[in-house]
Amino acid sequence: MTAPRLVFLGPPGTGKGTQALRMSDRFGLTALSSGDTLRREIREDSPIGREAAGFVSAGELVPDAVITGIMLGAIGRLPAGAGFILDGFPRTVPQAESLDRGLTGRGIGLTGVIDFRLGDAEIVERIIHRRVCTKCGASYNERSAPPASPGVCDRCGAELTQRSDDREDVVVTRLSAYRRQTAPLVDYYTQRGLLHAVDAAAPAAQIEQELAAVIAAADRGA
Ligand code: ADP
Repeated sequence: MTAPRLVFLGPPGTGKGTQALRMSDRFGLTALSSGDTLRREIREDSPIGREAAGFVSAGELVPDAVITGIMLGAIGRLPAGAGFILDGFPRTVPQAESLDRGLTGRGIGLTGVIDFRLGDAEIVERIIHRRVCTKCGASYNERSAPPASPGVCDRCGAELTQRSDDREDVVVTRLSAYRRQTAPLVDYYTQRGLLHAVDAAAPAAQIEQELAAVIAAADRGA
């Protein structure tokens, strides 16, 4: 099978992380989440973490050079031929251009970009009830998709927490950063024939089927 090399695009709270984990479990892909990587650096109080912390807690994007260095480094450490999903990167046109150059340098390119679409009111509602596992990255929703036992991750048994940037006021800033800086990537990838839009309001199992079909179609060269 041709290794899928995907970007998951879309506003926060649209299920990118959930589907990235499902697809990585199902197809043996590596899911690289820019947000999880930054939160780990911040927890470890590394130089990158200290540089990123203020931006992340305010809901603004960290500088392109910081995130591009981290993500291209992570892609570069994958074994040759490995399939991957980039969740949350790129988020600006300059990041997308750097990613293109980085992949071209390795003799590969993206095989698809999934655009998760959802209205703002539903996004806010989902995010303020979101709980996440800091160990494996799984997400839950206190109202619509709770874990089997309260506060405990179904997938790995670790404790669930609420992200500090999942407060309503910060979510509004994150949404406006998305519309202003990330939404132009929809055109960028449409022009390159890579974009597949999915209705993120659909049940997670249905989206999972849709994504599996996109991956299978890319493998057949469709
Ligand atoms: P979301 O749920 O908003 O998609 P993420 O976990 O992907 O959240 O990202 C959390 C925060 O990390 C963002 O608000 C931003 O500060 C920072 N971040 C993540 N990815 C990028 C990126 N590609 N470029 C700049 N900042 C980023």
